[in-house]
Amino acid sequence: MSKKEKVITPAAPHELTFEFAMELADRLTAQPDYLSLTEELLAQLQIIPTLQCARLFEVHCLSRCQEFNATSIDNLIVREVLNDLDEPRPFKDIASLNRSIQKMEARDDHEIPLSFQQIILPIPGENGQMRVLLIEADDIEAKFWGAIHFLLNIYKNQSLIFDEKERDKLTGLYNRQTFDEKLARVLRFYLKRANIDGRKSHDRSWLAILDIDHFKKVNDNFGHLIGDEILLLFTRLMEQSFRHTDMLFRYGGEEFIVILNNTDSEGAKIALERFRLSIANYNFPQVGRITVSTGYVRVEKHYLPTSLVEYADKALYAAKDNGRDQIVYIDLPAIEALANEGNIELF
Ligand code: GH3
Ligand code: MG
Ligand code: MG
Repeated sequence: MSKKEKVITPAAPHELTFEFAMELADRLTAQPDYLSLTEELLAQLQIIPTLQCARLFEVHCLSRCQEFNATSIDNLIVREVLNDLDEPRPFKDIASLNRSIQKMEARDDHEIPLSFQQIILPIPGENGQMRVLLIEADDIEAKFWGAIHFLLNIYKNQSLIFDEKERDKLTGLYNRQTFDEKLARVLRFYLKRANIDGRKSHDRSWLAILDIDHFKKVNDNFGHLIGDEILLLFTRLMEQSFRHTDMLFRYGGEEFIVILNNTDSEGAKIALERFRLSIANYNFPQVGRITVSTGYVRVEKHYLPTSLVEYADKALYAAKDNGRDQIVYIDLPAIEALANEGNIELF
């Protein structure tokens, strides 16, 4: 199936037949990446006639845990997997979601009705990764429960395969290899929006490189294991600070990329500054304070991903040269000037 094709789920037959289950399984396993897989799963759940909404969240503990262990509500970070880029729908009731995840742990259950309408289903992953499916529906007929569990099992197995391929092992963030593809997804979103309503908006995307300051000293003074813990905590703080619609990558050792989506220049600056401060003010266990330097550019579709990264890197180095713990923005050079140097792709 082409990535641009809209996902259309076949209507559930009167009886849920073996052939129908196979068709759903076939569609799920045909998805080329994690986000498409998640889109397809949520679309397939539409077979439940009484379904009002289905959403998928990733849940992490702020502190490291090999086994998922939600000990404290404050310790949990919840991020929605799929979010239309122009519709960040923060989950309003995070506290109740967190509480049910905790209850789920305590009871070791698989289905926890929050109310007669909300159901949370856990999808355990590896390395402390946990996903939960939130379903809102009036009475779900028994025959659909089998289908839901069938689909979730396939989703779980497929997402494990994609995690291995698309994510960094230590932090669970998207890895460098997926960067071009995720950026292309962002550009497709703007193209589609322009085609649909011709809307001219100041909202666009921004690419920021974040590099931890003097990280070598952390390793030298406290050892690599503590260094790894800091990278992990830094990641969780990123997940807490940026919107669900922003894309987060571990780009290299202590270097991260954020694609901030659908915001104007002021919004991007505020978000990056808020994160800089959240790091500067965080008391990292054993290590104490660390700081982060950031360079960023606006995302322009005419530039190759590597050129965008190159310019953001220049801004980052300006931030380092200027004393670190700060954010620097640079304007991309005019396209015409770059075309002559063969640095961009004009189409
Ligand atoms: P600057 O402020 O200029 O960025 O200084 P820095 O020390 O952060 O930068 P430098 O590039 O000199 O060092 C980066 C360090 O990051 C060196 C390396 O030991 C550490 N590092 C890279 N990847 C990992 C990792 O996965 N785990 C740990 N513990 N350390 C890492
Ligand atoms: Mg560094
Ligand atoms: Mg570095």
